[in-house]
Amino acid sequence: MGSVKDYFSGLGSGLVSLIKGMQVTGKEFLTPKVTERYPENRSTMQIPKRFRAILTLKYDAEGRHKCIACGMCQRNCPNGTITIEGKMVDTPDGKKKKKLVDYRYDLGSCTFCQLCVTSCPTGAIEFSNDFEQAVFTRELLVKKLNYLPDVPDPVPAAPVATEPKPESKN
Ligand code: SF4
Ligand code: SF4
Repeated sequence: MGSVKDYFSGLGSGLVSLIKGMQVTGKEFLTPKVTERYPENRSTMQIPKRFRAILTLKYDAEGRHKCIACGMCQRNCPNGTITIEGKMVDTPDGKKKKKLVDYRYDLGSCTFCQLCVTSCPTGAIEFSNDFEQAVFTRELLVKKLNYLPDVPDPVPAAPVATEPKPESKN
């Protein structure tokens, strides 16, 4: 007799469990979807601006960047992700300055800590939110950030000759 009671008790608790499960399923069925259908939704998807996908060198409209090849970002990177090469050049006004030759960044070893960006004295680098960076070999993750050809520095304007001041009459 006891076994029949156990049978119906088990059946009842099974039904309760089934109803609870169906309640959860029904609730999720009506909840707005959060799963993205990537890549079908590529044209409409929103990536937050602050998302750190890849380090980039900022270029202005004329194709110039602000990197002075000081190496601060390279020294502050905890992973050896950045390699800077620079050289000394003569400026049009006869001075010397360091110029960037090569900026290498290994996306594969970057931990996106942003220490490089915050330590840059000229604000030359930033993170882009372009997350589509998949490649087939690890070597392709090493990027040259100064990919545009160098734009010559503007020639400083010649000093304007000033008229001598007339002597004051006392
Ligand atoms: S974000 Fe961090 S790990 Fe990546 S390059 Fe900059 S300092 Fe290095
Ligand atoms: S990106 Fe900034 S910190 Fe790095 S070498 Fe250029 S100027 Fe220096």
